[in-house]
Amino acid sequence: MRRKLVAGNWKLNGTLAGVERLAEGIRAGAQTVSAADIVVCPTFVHIPKVAGLLADTSVAWGAQDVSDQDEGAYTGEVAAPMLVELGCRYAIVGHSERRILYGEDDALVARKFLAARRAGLIPILCVGELLDERESGITEQVVGRQLDAVLEAAGETGLAGSVIAYEPVWAIGTGRTGGPEQAQEVHAFIRARIAARDGTIAERIRILHGGSVKGSNAAELFAMEDVDGGLIGGASLKAEEFLTICRAAS
Ligand code: PEP
Repeated sequence: MRRKLVAGNWKLNGTLAGVERLAEGIRAGAQTVSAADIVVCPTFVHIPKVAGLLADTSVAWGAQDVSDQDEGAYTGEVAAPMLVELGCRYAIVGHSERRILYGEDDALVARKFLAARRAGLIPILCVGELLDERESGITEQVVGRQLDAVLEAAGETGLAGSVIAYEPVWAIGTGRTGGPEQAQEVHAFIRARIAARDGTIAERIRILHGGSVKGSNAAELFAMEDVDGGLIGGASLKAEEFLTICRAAS
């Protein structure tokens, strides 16, 4: 039985004061969520503030991205060991906004995944197709390619214990979702692809769903057999809404 996980991706949002209010709101309600793990991913600069506020709670924190390099002359990068020093347990890698807006390709995403693992972080590997890719019927081809890049680099044992987030790009921030059955189809495909290499790892790995998940649709998505929680963008910026989603996973 996989324990559900709900991860909030706060993206490029928040002032110090706003982030403090949000973290305090989540902290206040977190004990009402018993049967799911919760993680929040603020911007890098807000991590120490959030860490201080959530340190004595069950809520974990992580980063929205991580460098593929551990140290050196890489201006602007943030390395996985630095995140570990700040108490991060998770790092998102390969979010579609990084892939599309910043040109991250499968090979770089795989290196980031490896860097996170080297430092002991749990990578949340994002995969998902564009709208025209879905309409062209190549969703599995795209998601399979994104997954295989990491499987080739890390091997199936390197994938074990990590988290995958299936986020159809056309659903992110748009209010559109394909519904639970369509989500389940792709989640089952991902699990089967991993199972082709190792059944036990596939059975244990958590596959989150992302893209316009909110309080009103979380329960039906999380009820699907291969949906093990959610990666939440916009709806993670309001404590009550985020906690409603977390409770739907409990
Ligand atoms: C995301 O960016 O990972 C995401 C799922 O965003 P939203 O929930 O706003 O669609």
